[in-house]
Amino acid sequence: MPNALLIALSHNRRLRAFAERSPLGRRMARRFVAGESLADALAAVEASRGAGVTATLDHLGENVTTPAAAEQAAASAVESLEALHAGGFEANVSVKLTQFGLDLNAALVQRLLRSVAERAAALGGFVRVDMEGSAYTDRTLELVLATHAAGLPVGTVLQSALRRTAGDAERLIAAGIRIRLVKGAYREPVSLAFATKAEVDGSYRWLTERLLAAGNYPAIATHDPNIIAATLGAARQQGLPPERFEFQMLYGIRRDLQASLRRQGWRVRVYVPYGAEWYPYFMRRLAERPANLLFLLRNLLR
Ligand SMILES: Cc1cc2nc3c(=O)[nH]c(=O)nc-3n(C[C@H](O)[C@H](O)[C@H](O)COP(=O)(O)OP(=O)(O)OC[C@H]3O[C@@H](n4cnc5c(N)ncnc54)[C@H](O)[C@@H]3O)c2cc1C
Repeated sequence: MPNALLIALSHNRRLRAFAERSPLGRRMARRFVAGESLADALAAVEASRGAGVTATLDHLGENVTTPAAAEQAAASAVESLEALHAGGFEANVSVKLTQFGLDLNAALVQRLLRSVAERAAALGGFVRVDMEGSAYTDRTLELVLATHAAGLPVGTVLQSALRRTAGDAERLIAAGIRIRLVKGAYREPVSLAFATKAEVDGSYRWLTERLLAAGNYPAIATHDPNIIAATLGAARQQGLPPERFEFQMLYGIRRDLQASLRRQGWRVRVYVPYGAEWYPYFMRRLAERPANLLFLLRNLLR
């Protein structure tokens, strides 16, 4: 379960401004972020390709406060798609709808998501809409459903931590929308989310079985070795070949596990974040595993 203090600090503007500008902060961020430029991100994608792992690019940013910033975020997603395609990679990006103005104007978000998805379609690519905090779940699902209904290559993410997810999964399965299943990186009230790790993991396992049986090319996005083993067991039991689903992991986390799955012939995609606005993403990674904080501090003191 995400650590509450670190999640609270992930929203702190002063700490963010300080961290994103400080050379030390930028150095620490490299643990989970491929770099600040698109070129840095493409180098990480190239390195993954060498290991047989595909990628999705995320130009970091969220909760923009002006329409101009939303337009800029969409332009940068298109730039990523084009650069991936030009480099001979699959044109696959992950975006956040608060980056396209979800706090500002629904019509703007719809237009921007559609324009990015149209460019992805032209390049034979795909747009994954990340799932943010529960205040955005309904609107995110509606926008993805509408964009998919227009025949565009979009999918989204469901969080096993939320009590509502089994219902959402059925809705997306019925529409044929590709789902990435995650545990959930945001702190949620117990009225909406399971309170214990055992419940979140139990929900994840149940949803995985459902997606393997009925989903459209689901992405099992976790670093949890027990869940990965259970997924492989379920896939073998259902006689599913590797082409029917993929594992996904975050840049910088459990490369050993990625390599071991590839050696066994399973598909693996890595989520490659890049850009100057790395602070909230970085803090969520620390919150998932506070031991990371100790590890970073120990390295700094050396
Ligand atoms: C490809 C991908 C996309 C994602 N997209 C979203 C999204 O759109 N919305 C959302 O809410 N969440 C997203 N997440 C984050 C997710 O919700 C979890 O917070 C995160 O994956 C940690 O959970 P876990 O499944 O790895 O299991 P956990 O039980 O948290 O961890 C299992 C094991 O994985 C390793 N591990 C996990 N996290 C870390 C870390 N930060 N540093 C080092 N080791 C770690 C540790 O060995 C740990 O014991 C995404 C995750 C992935 C992999």
